[in-house]
Amino acid sequence: MPFEIYNTLSSKKEEFKSIEPNKVGMYVCGPTVYDYDHVGHARTYLSFDLLNRFLRFLDYQVKYIQNITDVGHLANDAEVGTDKIQQKAQDSGQSVKQVIEHYTEAHLKDMEALNIIMPDNFPKASEHIADIIEFIKGLTEKNMAYVTSQNNVYFSVSKDMDYGKLSHRNLAEIITGTRVDSAADKRSPADFALWKSSPVTVSDYTWESPWGRGYPGWHIECSAMSRKYLGDTFDIHGSAIEHVFPHHENEIAQSESLTGVEMAHYWVHSGMLTTHGQKMSKSFHNQVTVQDALKTYTNNELRLAFYQTHYRKPFDYTKESLEQGVSLRHKLFSGNDLLPEKTDQQVWQGIIDALNDDLDTSKALQLWGENAKLVSREDTGKLFEIFGLVYKPITENEKASELAKDRDAARASQDFLTADNRKAELIQMGYEVLDTPNGTVYVPR
Ligand SMILES: [Zn+2]
Repeated sequence: MPFEIYNTLSSKKEEFKSIEPNKVGMYVCGPTVYDYDHVGHARTYLSFDLLNRFLRFLDYQVKYIQNITDVGHLANDAEVGTDKIQQKAQDSGQSVKQVIEHYTEAHLKDMEALNIIMPDNFPKASEHIADIIEFIKGLTEKNMAYVTSQNNVYFSVSKDMDYGKLSHRNLAEIITGTRVDSAADKRSPADFALWKSSPVTVSDYTWESPWGRGYPGWHIECSAMSRKYLGDTFDIHGSAIEHVFPHHENEIAQSESLTGVEMAHYWVHSGMLTTHGQKMSKSFHNQVTVQDALKTYTNNELRLAFYQTHYRKPFDYTKESLEQGVSLRHKLFSGNDLLPEKTDQQVWQGIIDALNDDLDTSKALQLWGENAKLVSREDTGKLFEIFGLVYKPITENEKASELAKDRDAARASQDFLTADNRKAELIQMGYEVLDTPNGTVYVPR
């Protein structure tokens, strides 16, 4: 069966067809760099890493762009709040630049620690101000945007007949749902900022523009940068489900009003992450950072836990759900020296068909876990690559192998002190030690 993916735009699964043969352009909204990534971010980036890896498995060359938002993301959707990064700088006594550099570096480190294939480019909003200004000028010339007496520029939502097509809402619903404290100089509460004036130089992150000194709105950054790196129309635009509205709806409005063509063919959104049923959020004090999660679980375990739930469904981050990742890792990592020469074709086809069906990792992993010993070493390697697992053959270390044998011998002769010592040495070498019917098994962590 061909690869099908769920498209938020059409609300259904569609066969994936790239614009150019064997090439895919993919844009995923990156972080606003004012804090550490938490496991909710990890889930989003791991969902798109899987999509990237599966497309590569299908022989597509993927050009992957993930932006860095370093200006313009306000704390309040109605665009009257403070800039999240500026706020962090004020609260922590650092400069805006220090905050941006620190959290950008932390984000890249987390991506690496999660074994995510690095995007081809991480464009920063602050380094694309000229492109953004050009974009906004184009929209004002087309009369799709207006400048107010306060030198703010807003997109005029009522002029865009398609507005609401991604989130499947109509304008009346959107206006009713808009917060009452929206900026006073907007013509309609549904309009959104393209450029915010900032006459007082509060930081280095303001720029001269045809409308005076200021900074760009959050949504326009993605429209300008995706266009610059992937063109007017590209294949896949993705992010977490909470960005469907307003962020992605606004990106579509800006881009398609300017270019007159479809911005992206497939809009892909990963489901939300909760913990014990509650949204993970700063205000609930229940955030787990990626760095903290990786102190308890390995990259392999996090991936295998997340991927046991379909990427569009909510994932509940609990000890129980994470331990399912640990237990699946045990199944997939042990006994790899006993893999057959040839793969059972029915099992293989079942796994690949599941992935072709809108990346049904839940089904694919279940099939693989139950039939791991029917998949050849070579094909097991392919699955490790698709799922981004780091596979280290457990027989590769001679010293570890000696220690395990020693431990088994000591246990057989009831010398539990020596057995415990050998186990401690293995743990110190970075292995997790499991007792199996076949004796000691040590798994790289
Ligand atoms: Zn975006």
